[in-house]
Amino acid sequence: MNPDFETYRLGDEHEALREAVRALAEKEIAPHAAEVDDQARFPVEAQKALVKAGFQAVTIPEEYGGQGADELAGCIVIEEVARVCASSSLIPAVNGLGLTPILLSASDELKRQVLPSIAAGDAMISYALSEREAGSDAAAMKTRARRDGDSWVLNGTKCWITNAGESTWYTVMAVTDPEKGARGISAFVVHRDDPGFEVGPKERKLGINGSPTREIYFQDCRIPADRIIGAEGTGFKTALATLDHTRPTIGAQAVGIAQGALDAATAYVKERKQFGKAVGEFQGVQFMLADMAMKVEAARQLVYVATSRAERGEPNLGFISSAAKCFASDTAMSVTTDAVQLLGGYGYTKDFPVERMMRDAKITQIYEGTNQIQRMVMARALLK
Ligand SMILES: Cc1cc2nc3c(=O)[nH]c(=O)nc-3n(C[C@H](O)[C@H](O)[C@H](O)COP(=O)(O)OP(=O)(O)OC[C@H]3O[C@@H](n4cnc5c(N)ncnc54)[C@H](O)[C@@H]3O)c2cc1C
Repeated sequence: MNPDFETYRLGDEHEALREAVRALAEKEIAPHAAEVDDQARFPVEAQKALVKAGFQAVTIPEEYGGQGADELAGCIVIEEVARVCASSSLIPAVNGLGLTPILLSASDELKRQVLPSIAAGDAMISYALSEREAGSDAAAMKTRARRDGDSWVLNGTKCWITNAGESTWYTVMAVTDPEKGARGISAFVVHRDDPGFEVGPKERKLGINGSPTREIYFQDCRIPADRIIGAEGTGFKTALATLDHTRPTIGAQAVGIAQGALDAATAYVKERKQFGKAVGEFQGVQFMLADMAMKVEAARQLVYVATSRAERGEPNLGFISSAAKCFASDTAMSVTTDAVQLLGGYGYTKDFPVERMMRDAKITQIYEGTNQIQRMVMARALLK
């Protein structure tokens, strides 16, 4: 045996980061989570605490004012915040989603325009790919961008945009050449003060109620020509490359939600007494807890492997990033449902956090590609 064998364990820095985020999340974010959900209000306390600690967008490189952390660190931040409040975890998660296309494909000048304000916590960024009629089939989008002198002029509507209205910046995919299909899509950065940009009313949702989801509208929205991300026609390629990096972050969110529910259920069954003993002493309950913990740990390991491979820039990430997102989100759904079951009638009430976690878990099976789409991606990789 070799106690110094480092494979398959996190380094000290990542463990220290987890400890720091967990302490912050429990002290500054958890106390507001139920109210944020109940009132469907943006988690301002979480935003303030994350920004103060520099956890709102850790993967921005140092040269753009950021922490220069790796993608695994980014996942650990999201996981630990999601463990207490999934809505709040969308602050680092959606910043990561919005800025990844910029990190991957934007010019140095555009990076300098956008990233420092996010790194400083003065701005957030959202990601706008989906449209009402173009969800899973995102390449069927209709939003248009037309070149006009020194500007691009955008027209159309994007829907389901997480943190819209709170964000300053928006990474937007739009059609620049309708003749070319997916190769006629380009990516842009829009600022909320750009003329012709507006946000719609908040969607009323099952979960993640503290994270606003809105449509965004472009009506002859004029942006400077240099706000295009990469070359014209490369937007869809950038969007797909982004998913390789960001699907594991949704997996991390799912692992965090599941861990939060597992922790709550474990504590409860030790205290709750029926038939003269703690319900945790019944084997039927123990088997449920063991299955929940087993799935959470498997999901966590898959997410960490996927995000580490993305950080190294390995090729062919489609299978592993989809597997991580899909397995972790299915785990979050089943573990949170079982957590509600283990709390009995009390689990079904808002007096305990597990019903919120169950409602929050559901979205992880839907966004950044539904789990049917993840299974399609995985099957395609297997069959090619
Ligand atoms: C709360 C929330 C936040 C979101 N945030 C964002 C965001 O910030 N930015 C953004 O761009 N988008 C966002 N989305 C959009 C999200 O990514 C889409 O909802 C998702 O991709 C599914 O698209 P759709 O809703 O149009 O469903 P559809 O594509 O209409 O799918 C309907 C059903 O058909 C299934 N299906 C579709 N095609 C196939 C197929 N080929 N094979 C098998 N099954 C299939 C789907 O899995 C699903 O079950 C968000 C959505 C929600 C609800």
